[in-house]
Amino acid sequence: MNKRRGLMLVICAPSGTGKSTLTNRLRKEFPRLAFSISCTTRAPRDGEANGVDYHFLDRDEFITRRDAGYFAEWAEVHGNFYGTPKQALTEMLEEGRDVLFDIDVQGAAQLRQSMGEGCHVFLFPPSFQTLKDRLLGRGTDADDIVRRRLDNAPGEINEAVHFDGWIINDDLDVAYDQLRAVYIAEGLRPIYRPTLPAEILGNTSKGD
Ligand code: 5GP
Repeated sequence: MNKRRGLMLVICAPSGTGKSTLTNRLRKEFPRLAFSISCTTRAPRDGEANGVDYHFLDRDEFITRRDAGYFAEWAEVHGNFYGTPKQALTEMLEEGRDVLFDIDVQGAAQLRQSMGEGCHVFLFPPSFQTLKDRLLGRGTDADDIVRRRLDNAPGEINEAVHFDGWIINDDLDVAYDQLRAVYIAEGLRPIYRPTLPAEILGNTSKGD
């Protein structure tokens, strides 16, 4: 059967860049865009729900699943394990659903290598100082965790060279317009359009 395969939209950014705000907005505008719910060993933050934001697992359970090949990619990020469940991803793509990933640069590199498809967008903060202000200002993490996330930012930014698109989140509305433009443009590729309507192809059997 000539069925459309879903596209993978991978978004990476240093912690505090505004990635969740932008991806939540994109999901709201495009409900057909599914979200890949990761597993993590990080503790839930206030307001996070199991099975919605993440599947929260303890370390032993994560390692058991990892060793059983449960993840399409996994990585240790800021001292916790994170991974993308493989089966759910495969099913969504085969059903033709587009899938949005909020993962780190290590996971993006693994997906790029193993899947060889998708569009990878790197989101930059306008400056290191803004990143620091945002991370401290949102108050969701303890100071030592914020410090660790800030320390990791330069290494993450160094990986941006491997991405297909770069967006600087200086003005949220401008960054959002750019992100939705990338998503829409990516979906215009012929590989995501397996069939053309008969009106375009014409009825060749009549010899027209
Ligand atoms: P947070 O703890 O702030 O939710 O996420 C920390 C980092 O882990 C973010 O950069 C986020 O994109 C990344 N992350 C979330 N889920 C996954 C995943 O399934 N795989 C990988 N490799 N990174 C993830």
